[in-house]
Amino acid sequence: MNHAMSFVTMNLVTMMYLIASVCFIQALKGLSSPATARRGNAFGITGMAIAAVTTVALILKLKEQQTGGMGLTLVIVGIVTGGAIGAYLAKTVEMTKMPELVAAMHSLIGLAAVCIAVAAVSEPWAFNIAEPGQALPIGNRFELFIGTFVGAITFSGSVIAFGKLSGKYKFRLFQGAPVSFKGQHMLNLVLALVMVGLGLVFCFADGVQPAWTPFVVMAIIAFALGVLIIIPIGGADMPVVVSMLNSYSGWAAAGIGFSLNNSMLIIAGSLVGSSGAILSYIMCKAMNRSFFNVILGGFGGDAPAAGAAGAQEQRPVKSGSADDAAFIMGNAETVIIVPGYGLAVARAQHSLKELVEKLTHKGVTVKYAIHPVAGRMPGHMNVLLAEAEVPYDQVFEMEDINGEFGQTDVVLVLGANDVVNPAAKDPKSPIAGMPILEAYKAKSIIVNKRSMASGYAGLDNDLFYQANTMMVFGDAKKVIEDMLKAVE
Ligand code: NDP
Repeated sequence: MNHAMSFVTMNLVTMMYLIASVCFIQALKGLSSPATARRGNAFGITGMAIAAVTTVALILKLKEQQTGGMGLTLVIVGIVTGGAIGAYLAKTVEMTKMPELVAAMHSLIGLAAVCIAVAAVSEPWAFNIAEPGQALPIGNRFELFIGTFVGAITFSGSVIAFGKLSGKYKFRLFQGAPVSFKGQHMLNLVLALVMVGLGLVFCFADGVQPAWTPFVVMAIIAFALGVLIIIPIGGADMPVVVSMLNSYSGWAAAGIGFSLNNSMLIIAGSLVGSSGAILSYIMCKAMNRSFFNVILGGFGGDAPAAGAAGAQEQRPVKSGSADDAAFIMGNAETVIIVPGYGLAVARAQHSLKELVEKLTHKGVTVKYAIHPVAGRMPGHMNVLLAEAEVPYDQVFEMEDINGEFGQTDVVLVLGANDVVNPAAKDPKSPIAGMPILEAYKAKSIIVNKRSMASGYAGLDNDLFYQANTMMVFGDAKKVIEDMLKAVE
């Protein structure tokens, strides 16, 4: 009777996990467009709620049947504490601090994978992997080994990424500048080989007791490797790294899912793993850099310095006031706005939306052009504009709007630099081949930034020196507010 009931229970659990997994797939589908993003989020929340409730119900059932030793109180304390911290952070985090929050979250996923693996190795019967007194099967050991080392690398790598992105800490490894030393790549390779060797010793060790020594040393090396892999990468490249670590955290979860025979963990982990990998690829492509170039450190390491000092040339530029810019835009028929990192830093999205409303009211057709890597994280500008409730039909992706610049009266570039740099068309430029928004083709160009300093790539921008370009210097928020007053 008991056995039959647990069979029914397990089928029900599998079905609920399957429904949760379908919700996660729907969530990803919804999040692919701003118009359906809210629905996507709702699916994600529903999937996670189903997964959590099913797991708690399963624990209750197992307790009732005395077949499992898991503590329900601990699970509930975890859900309530984690949920409260997550809700508070989601409510209070600033848009510019989003990448570091994501890095912090990934570190926790990595750590969770390691903790589950340690628990499963020490008490496999509590996870239904082996009977009491039996050795852990080799296949499970292999899965737990992979889950542990990927989880450990994700944890320590994400902690370093968090420190670099936040830029608040004095600790040397948390500085944006890359930390490198002679023989670093060789050391990483040797450590990786030793780690794999120890993992194999753990997998094939004889005896009922798990081989703790190789397992623990392997985990310690993996933690060290996570640090060593991330420290030589510059702070400005961190968003690609965060997306890569996101992918790792997914694979770690999937690895653990195989050991625990948990279909939902396998599906959700694979979704996170593959979407993170695809995102890293898209970002690298949009920056025209190879993945290895980012991982092994290229430009971007000293972006803050480049931003401050900048590669500046003493060429004449035409500058004007916010009033001049407002006059030009007010008399145009078509205006395209190119938002960039500076707009996010200035938190000027709400004033911008008001300005666009005023211009539209005057009969000007205004569109926003979004470059895939404008800002410092994928989708940064879309999220920024969505926060200000900019209508989605005014927002255009690069490939959809690039053909329109040539016929546009005015392009207003706000705190953007690299994404409109025509140097990308020059085969000798360091950003040669990077797809750009072709703002340089417009009839008039207005660029707002604070100085002539370079952007993230540390390059001078010919667009600023074009005869039909007017620079409006100042903080984006102040400049947009002045434009707004002038348009009114
Ligand atoms: P850039 O960093 O190229 O330029 C931003 C410009 O904003 C700077 O030149 C700066 O000039 C200006 N700025 C800064 N603060 C303000 C302010 N308060 N008001 C007005 N202007 C300001 O940004 P883009 O968005 O054009 O390009 C993004 C770059 O980041 C690309 O090179 C991309 O490859 C890279 N990147 C993007 C990632 C992503 O996921 N999106 C990931 C990793 C890198 P000044 O100091 O003179 O004001």
